[in-house]
Amino acid sequence: MLKIKKVTTSIISVPLKTPFKTALRVVDSINDVCVRIETADGMVGLGEAPPTALITGETIDSVRAAIEGFIAPKIIGRSVMDFEDLMEAAQRALIKNTSAKAAVDMALYDIMAQALNLPLYRLLGGSRTELESDVTISLNDTDQMIADSMAAVENGFRILKIKTGKSGLKDAYRVTEIRQAVGSAIELRVDANQGWTPKESVRIIQAMEDGGCGASLVEQPVNAHDIDGLRYVTQNTATPILADEAVFSPSDAIEIIRTGAADMINIKLMKTGGIHEALKICDIAGIYGTPCMMGCMLESRLSTAAAAHLAAAKHIISMVDLDGPMLCASDPFTGGPNFSGARIKMSDDPGVGIIYGLLN
Ligand code: MG
Repeated sequence: MLKIKKVTTSIISVPLKTPFKTALRVVDSINDVCVRIETADGMVGLGEAPPTALITGETIDSVRAAIEGFIAPKIIGRSVMDFEDLMEAAQRALIKNTSAKAAVDMALYDIMAQALNLPLYRLLGGSRTELESDVTISLNDTDQMIADSMAAVENGFRILKIKTGKSGLKDAYRVTEIRQAVGSAIELRVDANQGWTPKESVRIIQAMEDGGCGASLVEQPVNAHDIDGLRYVTQNTATPILADEAVFSPSDAIEIIRTGAADMINIKLMKTGGIHEALKICDIAGIYGTPCMMGCMLESRLSTAAAAHLAAAKHIISMVDLDGPMLCASDPFTGGPNFSGARIKMSDDPGVGIIYGLLN
């Protein structure tokens, strides 16, 4: 039963409404690898992996090679019922390549939940049926960012994620101006995407605090590998610091939490290698009471839906940053969680719930 017969990959291409700009890159469409896993009894699970070379080191070609050449041979012919064994086999098929592993992982969870006729978040023990996401305000000149922020608020977003990290102290003034424009009722999350040095971070964050911009958190101010620098920032500012690029694996989470290097952790399936490893971070964070954010890369509704299922299942995930589908100009999928503005409504469709035309 549920014996894996075939693992295939393809490319999905979805244009963005407007270019996505961070301190690391500019992107105008989503071009991701889609993985389809089929069992001998006709069940189909889908997964998605974005090629985020600057963060995970993966490209379209590397994701496909990792799945087809390394992971698929380890799982074909085996039953999805042997879930733990399969998950380990997929994780151990090769090192790193976390997005490739995530795509396979979510497709296997998709099949397992469908086989049990449950939406994935229910299989994971969740009861939340609705989530509220922030929306990313891309890095542009200040006037553009204020206009984008106002438009987002008009569209019902109450939480904005402001991209910064390229302008030093000017970043602080920019966020303060955005605060003045949107008013005090809107939550502002600030993401520097590793754009500042530790000392610069402290100066900028203190300037934001003094300017009354009331950011609820600052995300990954310094270089991903500079854990001491991250700790320096965390210990010298009042604003909570969220580790993103610094935390990929459960062991990264343990180090960050135990050494007080950050106050919060951003979990992304593409960094952990999927839901199975992300659950371990949830457990670790739960033990220490460290709040987590469920984040995503530039992903379409397929893999973002898998992330939404995890977020709906875990109380320790108190922040949701799953705006990928909201940034897309079109949606090639049907079924699954409904993404409408800031609101993500879970559906009762079994599995992740996403159906992709001929691929299903
Ligand atoms: Mg981030």
